[in-house]
Amino acid sequence: MNNDRYSVAPGSLVQQLDVLWRRQCDEWAMLRTGRSNLHAARTRMFDLGGWHVIAQCNPSRVASAAAKVDARTLAARPCFLCDENRPIEQRFVLYRGDWKILCNPAPIFDPHFTIVWAVHEPQLVRSSLHSMLDLAADLESRYTVFYNGPSSGASAPDHLHLQASPVGCTPVETELAAAVCAERGNNGQSWIEWLRRVPVHVGLSRPGRRPTIVITGDDRQAILDAVGQVLAALEKVHPVRPEPMLNLFATFADDHWLVWMFPRQAHRPSCYGHESDRYLVSPGAVDLAGLLIMPRPEDFERLDAATIHAIYREVSLSSEEFDLLRDHLRR
Ligand SMILES: [Zn+2]
Repeated sequence: MNNDRYSVAPGSLVQQLDVLWRRQCDEWAMLRTGRSNLHAARTRMFDLGGWHVIAQCNPSRVASAAAKVDARTLAARPCFLCDENRPIEQRFVLYRGDWKILCNPAPIFDPHFTIVWAVHEPQLVRSSLHSMLDLAADLESRYTVFYNGPSSGASAPDHLHLQASPVGCTPVETELAAAVCAERGNNGQSWIEWLRRVPVHVGLSRPGRRPTIVITGDDRQAILDAVGQVLAALEKVHPVRPEPMLNLFATFADDHWLVWMFPRQAHRPSCYGHESDRYLVSPGAVDLAGLLIMPRPEDFERLDAATIHAIYREVSLSSEEFDLLRDHLRR
């Protein structure tokens, strides 16, 4: 371990991350620039018939949106998450011995962390799930932890990593909180249809919303089992190797985990491209959660509701396959 890059601060994990972010913003020019770009980023709000999308114009994200993720390109480039290739200025907080928490130098949030597995091993949801739940709980309701599947928005699918954003920063989190509160208060119909309520709640979004699966409860093992059942059902409905295409989130509040996922059928929409009549948009977890990142100002300007609908429709699991998934989970 390079001790120069190891950040030690007293206090809880949340306090250590506060110190890491502040210190790195002071001493690391790349993060300072990325953060300035984030603060200068323009946003536009779209109402897509009951659910909301915020478009963020963020030029710092161009490398991520344009990343080539085919096996040959990945094998030929130095992995930017491996110890030996990371910038010398980039410090980390060690988490449970095997994960390194880094500041993301092209932040979408302030702060925005990348949590990197110690070894160069591929992105796999089954390798990450336990740690996502633990990390969400250890972060004391301050952060949401998320995962991009290897062909669902990850720009480094060859190196296992998670990300963390301040809780409540995406439109879907507000909408989910309302749905969970409505359920706890027996407060009428929400956009989530709950299929099961014991030992944990498992729900699916109703028709008209982009396909979303929600699991919530206070029993860690039951949450893991429920996610495993959803993954097994997705493997039947839309089989893709090495794992079902998805973006996964976990957060923790009031002693309950809230886990949700967006099942996918495409890495990028058909409008994706570098040409002037295309959109340089590569949707990952954050985008599916309603914060659509547009690195090119010209794309941001001409974006409209119809294009956003098409992007979500094309990258999300089809409504027919989502209905099949509902049937599987009802059994
Ligand atoms: Zn690596």
